Formats: sequence, C-alpha cells, structure tokens
Amino acid sequence: TSLETWSKVDTYITKRLHPQDDVLEQVLAANRKAGLPEIDVSPNQGKLLHIWARMQRAERILEIGTLGGYSTIWLARALPEGGRLVTLELNPGFAEVACSNLALAGLDHLVEVRVGAALDQFTLLEQEQAEPFDLIFIDADKPNNPAYLQWALRFSRPGTVIIGDNVVRGGEIIEQYSTDPRVQGVRQFYDLLGQHPDITATAIQTVGSKGYDGFAIGIVNG
Ligand code: SAM
Repeated sequence: TSLETWSKVDTYITKRLHPQDDVLEQVLAANRKAGLPEIDVSPNQGKLLHIWARMQRAERILEIGTLGGYSTIWLARALPEGGRLVTLELNPGFAEVACSNLALAGLDHLVEVRVGAALDQFTLLEQEQAEPFDLIFIDADKPNNPAYLQWALRFSRPGTVIIGDNVVRGGEIIEQYSTDPRVQGVRQFYDLLGQHPDITATAIQTVGSKGYDGFAIGIVNG
C-alpha cells in the first residue's frame, strides 16, 4: 500500500464519520491562503484528539505548536463551557491566523494563544502559577521534545494525559545515528517517556493522508 491508498482510506473514513464541517474547511482554506505549511494533523487525527480530550473530560488543555489552530479547534471543541485551552506558538504570523480561525469557530473565548518560544512561555506560566492541565498535546519543534516533556510533567497532576505527535517520522526514529535533530529529539523523548517513573506511555504508528507517522500517549501516574 501507498500514500495514495492511505489517503483514499482517510477520505473514506472522514466521509462516513465526519463528512460536513464547514468551519474546518474554511480554516484549512484560510491557512492555505496565508501560506501556512500544511503540517497540521489530518481530519481523523484531529477528531481522535477531540475524542481523547472528551474521554479525559478535560477542562484545561495545553497545546505546544498552534500553527493555524486546526488541532486547537478539534481540542477546544471538547471543552465544557468555562474550560480553557492554552496554546503556544513561536511564529506571530501563524498565531494571528490561528486567532482569526478560532474566532471563526466561535472558540476564541475558551482559547489563549500565547506567542513566543514555548520554553519562554513555560517559564512565564510557572511565574503565573498556572494550574495543572488535564491534557497536554506536544506538537512543535521536535528537537525540544525532551524539554517539553519535562515541562509538561511539571504542569501535570496524576491522571494528566500527555500526547506527542510525529513520533515515527516515516520510520526514521529507528535510525540511531540519524543526523536529523528532530529524529534525535524524538528518540530522547522516547527514552525519557520510558525511564520516567511519573508516566506510563506507549506509541502507535499511523498511516494516512499525512503519510506514515505516529502518536505517543502517556498518563501521569498517581
Ligand atoms: N498542532 C498544529 C496542528 O495540528 O494544527 C500543527 C503544529 S506544527 C506541526 C508545529 C508548530 O510549532 C509550527 O506552527 C511552528 O511555528 C511551531 N513552533 C516551532 N518552534 C516553536 C517553539 N520553539 N515554540 C513554540 N512553537 C514553535
């Protein structure tokens, strides 16, 4: 099988299980118009994130890596009224597109888009004594994944779910001597997930319209 088949199957799944979503169609069109890279999660991956957030009954969600807010919208749609999603984005232009998309989706009152390097934002969140999050989605610059996981654990409580995207990278993660800093970042992320006593984690390989990749998912121990 090939990317072509995986994409067709993704289309089949999407057509049957969530066929009509004018807001998300408009969001993807706005992202294309603004020239954003098409590296958001696919529709069924977005819905999977949404379902995970609902299973978790998440009221506070943290996302690292907003882009145009596509995954943000799927996650924020899982929040109850009065819930909160904080999303961190380095690129001010992307953040601006995300804010406009979130307004279009009617979710801007639930979401705070914070612009700047995520590591700096974490320091600020700590100074602000931010409360722990129920679900944390790590999807930004992969070389920083180990640092993001350490920070995520600091903003967790027993039961917090931590998810990382792009943890298979077309299979490249098994290349021990890879010179790609993203591969090395993800490999260190696995090592930390595997060794840290505070989290129980696994990872699942995925194929679809975005190629061959995977999600890591862990739950913070109580
Ligand atoms: N989660 C988004 C979605 O599925 O719709 C996709 C996020 S995209 C894969 C990664 C994003 O992380 C990019 O928008 C990029 O600008 C942002 N990013 C890269 N380095 C960052 C950093 N140091 N701090 C915060 N965001 C960063």
